[in-house]
Amino acid sequence: MAKKTQGVLPVKKNDVTDLRIEDLTHEGHGVGKIDGYPLFIPNALPGEQVRVKVVKTSKNYGFGRVMDWHNKSQDRVVPPCPVYYKCGGCQLQHLSYEGQLTAKQKQVQDVMERIGKLPDVPVLPTLGMEEPWRYRNKSQVPFGMSEGRVISGFYAKRSHEIVDVKECIIQEEVSDQVMTLVKQKANELGIQPYDEARHKGVLRHVVIRYGRTSGEVMVVLVTRTNDVPHVLELIDVLKENIKGLSSIIHNVNSKKTNVIMGEKTTVLWGSDVIYDSIGDIRFAISAQSFYQINPVQTEVLYKKALEYAELTGEENVVDAYCGIGTISLFLAQKAKKVYGVEIVEQAIEDAKKNAELNGINNAEFEAGPAEVIIPKWHKEGKTADVIVVDPPRKGCDEALLQTILEMKPKRVVYVSCNPGTLARDLRVLEDGGYRTEKVQPVDMFPQTSHVECVASIYRVD
Ligand code: SAH
Repeated sequence: MAKKTQGVLPVKKNDVTDLRIEDLTHEGHGVGKIDGYPLFIPNALPGEQVRVKVVKTSKNYGFGRVMDWHNKSQDRVVPPCPVYYKCGGCQLQHLSYEGQLTAKQKQVQDVMERIGKLPDVPVLPTLGMEEPWRYRNKSQVPFGMSEGRVISGFYAKRSHEIVDVKECIIQEEVSDQVMTLVKQKANELGIQPYDEARHKGVLRHVVIRYGRTSGEVMVVLVTRTNDVPHVLELIDVLKENIKGLSSIIHNVNSKKTNVIMGEKTTVLWGSDVIYDSIGDIRFAISAQSFYQINPVQTEVLYKKALEYAELTGEENVVDAYCGIGTISLFLAQKAKKVYGVEIVEQAIEDAKKNAELNGINNAEFEAGPAEVIIPKWHKEGKTADVIVVDPPRKGCDEALLQTILEMKPKRVVYVSCNPGTLARDLRVLEDGGYRTEKVQPVDMFPQTSHVECVASIYRVD
């Protein structure tokens, strides 16, 4: 095989070459190599022999497009969604569900080895769903204009162009109904959708939330303007047609931003919250609160977190990045005391209300950055037998990890939506006297390339 000459790439744009797909990236692209130089190829699966055209090159990697398949993977399936190849929502519909679960496990194994330098940590088979469709309890649907008509759906891959859809088969059916109804009415009544480029127009997004156990539905109309034109007609049509509707909210977002909701929220009709339960705990969810989007798998995830915490009823537990207190309240049932911390103040208000709603009085919550509040607790003399962390994608703050090492909990349970930062943080904990017993991937987002994990970690003494 020819050796890669320094500075000269083995391929250039528009070259056509045959190669074998060896791997799948975390974005769901196939990876094939030419003299060690990786090409990322959308819609190509491991094991496939393909002819590709090089569409882009940079110093360390390039992109290719499949022109022909010499053989196809046994795991390849026909994606059931008609707009799958256009829409940016899903990345893995062309891979069988079994194949998706295996790919996610392997992805976690790879980062444990590469980033965490933990080649021997057991990464268990991904826990999947029996029915990996129609699982999303929240939909955020952008509205736009195409050829003089109001359209709504999801953004195309790597773009803000809206793909108009009638249904999305990973979201609850009620979301399809609301989306279609509001689109029809907007066309009929002449409600202008938001025009992102010119920062004009009215209707930006419709957000739909569904409480799976209560059957309650919340609809949030997000507009650029302070009022919603034809608001009474909209309320009437939703009330008449949407089963379980219990809340219609108006949110104003007048900024030029990608953030979906603005600060001002008012109730147009019904309640300001809907309810959902995970296991035995009931939660009130408001328009802006963070709540896991796949309630079936959330229960699987939280049960694992609880199992890994190994609680006997005697423990003080810290729940860092606690959101509206979901994991905290789950743990409180089996712990002596739980202290939750979260940066969003409204979420902490919700967490306190949720504790009350469930008659739980051994959970306390404080708003602020985990990396500030937990060191403060440590200084005040609070102790923790178990620390649970569930940080956003960027992982735990270094200062928090150091405080965990100083507080010396017996166990750490790490819930993560980004295996890369999980592996990085596990390395820090390992170097500080902890061992990772196992990592359990849980498929919270079937058909997409996202992976959620929970890791069981203990102190070696
Ligand atoms: N454990 C919760 C929420 C997890 S999402 C659940 O399962 O529902 C991560 C949470 O971390 C979000 O609620 C986010 O607001 C919060 N967060 C982000 N940065 C933070 C920080 N520095 N300190 C504390 N919380 C933070």
